[in-house]
Amino acid sequence: MHATGTQAISEAVADVLKYVPSQVAVVAAAKMRTVEEVAAAIRAGIEIIGHNYVQEAERMLTTFGKQAKWHFIGRLQKNKAKKAAVLFDVIETIDSMRIAEALNRHCLAMHKTMPVLVEVNSGKEESKSGVFPEQLDALVREISILPNLCVQGLMTMGPRFGNPEEARPYFRATKEAFDRLADANIPGVEMRTLSMGMSNSYKVAIEEGANLIRIGSKIFGERQQRL
Ligand SMILES: *Cc1c(COP(=O)(O)O)cnc(C)c1O
Repeated sequence: MHATGTQAISEAVADVLKYVPSQVAVVAAAKMRTVEEVAAAIRAGIEIIGHNYVQEAERMLTTFGKQAKWHFIGRLQKNKAKKAAVLFDVIETIDSMRIAEALNRHCLAMHKTMPVLVEVNSGKEESKSGVFPEQLDALVREISILPNLCVQGLMTMGPRFGNPEEARPYFRATKEAFDRLADANIPGVEMRTLSMGMSNSYKVAIEEGANLIRIGSKIFGERQQRL
């Protein structure tokens, strides 16, 4: 990538960081980006990189190591759970007991406790991952019993509408669930992270209580393919 590209990335990061209140952390969603692009984002002040693919993340991690925290934000497959347990600092997309148990097993073997977020399918879209809202509390309680996972919050995509205002009710409902679970004081559960909002919706998400936002195209430019 040439200098103008990395320049645009540092300006975009500066814009986002200037807007975002200090209690809100920014994940740069780095799927399909190059090492140079991710390096530019880190130089500009990004501290957390989000990855959708375990393999892709592995390559980046060899380059950047401890310069950033690594969040898994994709659909976790059981056969990638072991590698994910090794590579990532947080898994944001736990949505079933099946995948939670697989991850727990690998973390146990590594003597690691993995912070996880439970992904909510707040728009109840069949095509999307995430647990349906009515099954959320039961799933959080089940995961809380697994010794090597620590539930630290919720994540939601929300429906991807053109108008970010249309995501607001889903963000609001997810915040309500977050508060309810925090008040429930479930042993082993620390409700501290609410991950919602992307490039087009992060301002609305912050208004509705997000303290972690995941930004891809606004930092790195449009992707070739929509994911
Ligand atoms: C790609 C992605 C994002 C960022 O999307 P943009 O619209 O490019 O900001 C956020 N969250 C997840 C889970 C993603 O896969």
